[in-house]
Amino acid sequence: MRITVLAGGVGGAKFLQGVRHFATSDGRSDEVTAIVNTGDDVTMHGLRICPDLDSVMYTLGGVIDTERGWGRAGETWRIKESLAEYGAEPSWFGLGDLDISTHLVRTQMLDAGYPLSDVTAALCQRWQPGVRLIPMTDDRCETHVVVEIDGQRRAIHFQEWWVRYRASLPAHAFVQVGLDTARPAAGLLDAVSETDLILLAPSNPIVSVDTILNVAGVRDAMRASSAPVVGVSPIIGGAPVRGMADACLPVRGVETSADGVAHFYGSRHGDGVLDGWLIHDDDVAELDGVTVLARDLLMSSVEVTASMVADALKVAGL
Ligand code: GDP
Ligand code: CA
Repeated sequence: MRITVLAGGVGGAKFLQGVRHFATSDGRSDEVTAIVNTGDDVTMHGLRICPDLDSVMYTLGGVIDTERGWGRAGETWRIKESLAEYGAEPSWFGLGDLDISTHLVRTQMLDAGYPLSDVTAALCQRWQPGVRLIPMTDDRCETHVVVEIDGQRRAIHFQEWWVRYRASLPAHAFVQVGLDTARPAAGLLDAVSETDLILLAPSNPIVSVDTILNVAGVRDAMRASSAPVVGVSPIIGGAPVRGMADACLPVRGVETSADGVAHFYGSRHGDGVLDGWLIHDDDVAELDGVTVLARDLLMSSVEVTASMVADALKVAGL
């Protein structure tokens, strides 16, 4: 079976560990493709950084720092300290020494003219994630956040809002800069149309999943695909399991609940994408034409997460 997953960073990576486990368990040999958000991507100190792709790559490669949730285990920070001594900005973004090697290779390849999808494939040669990783686009399409600073409305990069201000500045809107010209990365539309199951990871609905869906042609391809689409709620009991997704949902008028997110994604019978929706025990969600299943959605082990995938197949009637 071919399984395609739309994913952001930390939540997406953890979910993909479970998908990979499912795909290789009980004699299965499913082919898994992850379409990863690149709206968080940013250039700092001349280096091109892809936070969500790296979270997925390091997690599936077994080298993620599990305590911190991002970056590499056993990281050191000498370059960061040295940059700070130069007074080089930005100083609020953590770039570890080991991590920087990834950004150096990526930046060099991009400068040589390779598209991000090829660069990602090359980086994955080293980490062997066991899942094909496709960036949502090879073009620049960066999420900016409209905020008020000193009484002035300004758009700042998503990373600045998220990391520097810990999403504490009230956001008026999210804008995907470059969306007009961004095209889906090579292989993306095929991964959506020629697959057997599409899963929406329990990633941030606004700045991870919707960002991918907004790239020209992706939402339409999802709606037109013969593969069922099943989403997994990142919201449990009215709050994100981890992180600050609740700072994003109200900006788009979405209630922070499993039902709110279901309505945001919408039913394929209406103008949305969902055929199935997994919610946590005791949560409720109801959407015309969408099969809802309540179960444990805490990704406490790869086995538990893999069993979510098994349930997604059931919901999809596969
Ligand atoms: P980011 O790009 O690093 O912010 O990560 P994602 O967008 O992929 O995922 C963030 C989301 O993962 C948050 O909204 C969390 O609620 C969700 N999440 C984290 N751990 C779990 C879990 O164990 N279960 C579920 N259902 N969601 C989770
Ligand atoms: Ca992210």
